[in-house]
Amino acid sequence: MTNPDTDVAAGRPVVLRGGTVLTMDDAHTVLTDADVLVDGDRIAAVGPRLEVPEGTVEIDATGGIVMPGMIDTHRHMWQTAMRAYGADWTLTQYFVWNYLEHGRKFRPEDIGAGNLVSAWESLEAGVTTTVDWSHNLQTTDHAEAALDALRAVPGRFVLAYGNIQAAPWVWTADPAVRSFLAANPPGDMLGFQIAFDVTGDPAFPEKAAFEAARELGLPVTTHAGVWGATNDDGIRLMHENGFMTPQSIYVHAATLSADSYQRIAATGGTISVATESEQSAGQGYPPTWQVRRHDIAVALSMDTSVWWSGDLFSAMRTTLGADRAREHLEAHMKGETVTHHALRAEHVVDWATRGGARALGRDDLGRLEPGCKADVVLIKNDASPVSFPLVNPYGHVAFQAQRGDVHTVLVNGRVVKHEHRLVGADLGAVRRTAEATVDYLRSELGDEAWAAGMNPDLPTTEVLDNPYQYTEFKSESTHGARGSIFGEG
Ligand SMILES: [Zn+2]
Repeated sequence: MTNPDTDVAAGRPVVLRGGTVLTMDDAHTVLTDADVLVDGDRIAAVGPRLEVPEGTVEIDATGGIVMPGMIDTHRHMWQTAMRAYGADWTLTQYFVWNYLEHGRKFRPEDIGAGNLVSAWESLEAGVTTTVDWSHNLQTTDHAEAALDALRAVPGRFVLAYGNIQAAPWVWTADPAVRSFLAANPPGDMLGFQIAFDVTGDPAFPEKAAFEAARELGLPVTTHAGVWGATNDDGIRLMHENGFMTPQSIYVHAATLSADSYQRIAATGGTISVATESEQSAGQGYPPTWQVRRHDIAVALSMDTSVWWSGDLFSAMRTTLGADRAREHLEAHMKGETVTHHALRAEHVVDWATRGGARALGRDDLGRLEPGCKADVVLIKNDASPVSFPLVNPYGHVAFQAQRGDVHTVLVNGRVVKHEHRLVGADLGAVRRTAEATVDYLRSELGDEAWAAGMNPDLPTTEVLDNPYQYTEFKSESTHGARGSIFGEG
């Protein structure tokens, strides 16, 4: 086995040989036994038995799937510092944690600790671009810490600047925020967005924040259609005031009327569906089954690892499941049967790659075509029986593969994961910073509040009376002549 820290030298061309290649080009061309050549930060060629420059690093992709790097369009990376803490929450408990309790306690170094572990987690799972929906930047020191962590990891990121502890029209006007954003212009590896929600207040106080984003030349990303929080009024106010653009991202967009979907469709924005989130938290039903009727672009996202995973394989899987479950349910309520699924494995692979690229206005990402940026994932795990037979590559990615099967990852032409190991990651140091944040937050809150936050009260479930109490039968069947099903006696 090669040592990935030393043998995969930066600056050399890399060729992945003999894989099944999901190009995700306009025709969704799939090539078998094909190579992908990366030279510098670009895809140089895709095809069978490519001639390569001398000194090219060869990676054996036989038996594997080569696909574009995945793109997560909405993740609160800072919250990864408390990974899994909120596994049993609803949105109500999350809001208390985020706005009133733990969220307020986060220091700049805690934001940085969450971002650092989340950023490495992305690369490990083949997510080469992650939007950091960073809505706890209480000061620009917090923002600097968020940015430093993203810069310390060789992935592609978008810092979506936000601050839940202040009104968006207040913090976007803050001279410190303005000078932070001016000092950090968006670039290829690190983009910027402005992140805030629209309450639907008829006075539309968010107007000033939209104007600020426009002045800065940055797109707005917003949690829309969240049950009990944001609704059709917010969409209508954005539309009537001319702030819905093709660069706008509507996260969740679950509890909206047809009128809102039509406004989104007409202005060309993208809905970022976070199915794992919507299924657990209660924003509304994952909307993909509705939005295809409006021909709205879809991208995928994970939302937060304080609750669930940061793994786009899971996003693809749960999105297919939720969409199909709803189609079946709607049909059954009408006494009908679904005979053909509208949502296919190929569609969710497209959303995880090209959908994200489109949402971010990055035509050079999400595809494996010459000239595109070299963000590449090789799914291959020779030690796993799940890696074969490889019959349906889209189905394989969506329902069979998982992050442990991610063998190699390139970002901008650089190998950041090789032979299932991250390259150049000091995970010991990353772990220590995350654990220091956990220790700090736990001591700030006290053990009792910490435990209570993680273990919400369990509602009682009333077990219904059952008229079919075959007590005699049960008695006879378990102890009588026929004996137990477990072979007793
Ligand atoms: Zn969110």
